[in-house]
Amino acid sequence: MSDDCVFCKIASGDIPAALIYQDERFVAFHDLSPQAPVHVLVIPRTHYTSLMDVKDAAVLGDLLEAAKTISSQLGIAGTGWRTVINTGQDGGQTVMHLHVHLLGGRFMQWPPG
Ligand code: AMP
Ligand code: ZN
Repeated sequence: MSDDCVFCKIASGDIPAALIYQDERFVAFHDLSPQAPVHVLVIPRTHYTSLMDVKDAAVLGDLLEAAKTISSQLGIAGTGWRTVINTGQDGGQTVMHLHVHLLGGRFMQWPPG
């Protein structure tokens, strides 16, 4: 837990949020500023500053498995969806706690901006 991290506070319940998924290691909630009909953030409860901070590759696999489960839960597994992990300054990362964006409910353009 990082004291000044908003996502740590959401994961611990210090900041109330409507969690749409939670297990022992991961939680998911709707993005405050949705960019698609479905825009969910999936985060590990453990504080990792970014993807670069993760040493155990199994964490990343399990994070993506959680995203797959949530896509089914939200009814978009069949129509498809996109995952985005912004990393660092040029990656556009604004919250320094590893998170996967899960976007769906419409066709996703390519390339992203
Ligand atoms: P990124 O730019 O990849 O770091 O994404 C951070 C995302 O977190 C943005 O899409 C924000 O809209 C979202 N966000 C920031 N604070 C909150 C919050 N308290 N609850 C839900 N989403 C948030
Ligand atoms: Zn954190």
